[in-house]
Amino acid sequence: MSLELSRKALAVKPSSTLAITAKAKELRQAGIDVVGFGAGEPDFDTPENVCDAAIQAIHDGFTKYTPASGIMELKEAVAGKFASFNKIHYDPDQIVISNGGKHSLTNICMALLNPGDEVIIPAPYWLSYPEMVKLADGIPVFVRGEKEQGYKVNAAQIESAITPKTKALILNTPSNPTGMIYSREELEAIADVAVRNDIYVIADEMYEYLVYDGLEHVSIASLNEEIYKRTITCSGLAKGYSMTGWRIGYTGSAKEIAKVMGSVQSHATSNPNSIAQKAAVEAITGPQDTVSAMLNEFDARRRYMCRRIKEMPYISALEPKGAFYMFVDLSGVLEKKYKGEQIGSAARFADILINNYQVAAVPCADFGFDDHIRLSYAISIEQIEKGLDRIEEMLKKLES
Ligand SMILES: *Cc1c(COP(=O)(O)O)cnc(C)c1O
Repeated sequence: MSLELSRKALAVKPSSTLAITAKAKELRQAGIDVVGFGAGEPDFDTPENVCDAAIQAIHDGFTKYTPASGIMELKEAVAGKFASFNKIHYDPDQIVISNGGKHSLTNICMALLNPGDEVIIPAPYWLSYPEMVKLADGIPVFVRGEKEQGYKVNAAQIESAITPKTKALILNTPSNPTGMIYSREELEAIADVAVRNDIYVIADEMYEYLVYDGLEHVSIASLNEEIYKRTITCSGLAKGYSMTGWRIGYTGSAKEIAKVMGSVQSHATSNPNSIAQKAAVEAITGPQDTVSAMLNEFDARRRYMCRRIKEMPYISALEPKGAFYMFVDLSGVLEKKYKGEQIGSAARFADILINNYQVAAVPCADFGFDDHIRLSYAISIEQIEKGLDRIEEMLKKLES
């Protein structure tokens, strides 16, 4: 057959995180004791009250199609959460419930972009952003947030990347993979640039509940009326409530954008799972004590990892302020040799770790920083300790 597949789809990069996870799984199945720092999801069970609400929904026969953009009960719950937690006012008709945060972000790109529109993506970035933009015929434009800047970009950098074709900026706070959060002042300056240049802001706030040291999560849409109009605020249940498998995400935006996203979704997937929607209502409106219990546990692990990494030779990491990842700088390692061979890249470093020390870490070339790895602390403290012991052992074997 000589039929050609979609060039756009063929150009999608297979996820590099999958290769390392597959390798770890393979080793584990062969009975090898692997420590997996690759996890992109909380390791806790979904809270019991949330599970009970889902079971109740099944018994109540709430198992049919719902309105494509979500049930009113959940939109009202999300509107209430936006008002109290994010300090943003969205009416239910400005909210679209989707099949996960990833789906919401895809809907946003579909709703905003025309062929050739540029989208500014601060690097390091979550590896799906560039692919989502390209699938919607947009062009990703990268701006680097260097380590000295806390891996964050500033308003001036964004402004100088803006062209007549710029349509939007993607802003992820707290950040995956860096764990950094943008302060109110930083967001005010960025909002000012977005308003002055009339571009949209896609605010991915998936990790908004996971912020440490008593710091405040600030939603850019809450700053003023002008930035509110131009922002699509995206979040979901996956990370904060340990509900990754349930697939519920949502957006708040201008009504016109919500309407377009709702239409796109109505043809692509129809409604998100009816049972999961009922569970999401309980998660958002029910008791929140499990959320803070998870946060406390993550915090203990974060502190432990920071302390250990600080004591290790050649590598370093900034203390994360949110999410559950350590973004580890390997620039002091790449010149070194392992068994006579120069390391050279984070990918090679990760290879040596998995093959010789049974530790899975995510090399971050696909996150825009090829001399960094990401270590997730969504695993038990015992596993973290074992994994860090092994990494330290490897580092001590390196030669100049
Ligand atoms: C996990 C994640 C999402 C989306 O999660 P879903 O499982 O699709 O709800 C979005 N953005 C970032 C940065 C993430 O890490």
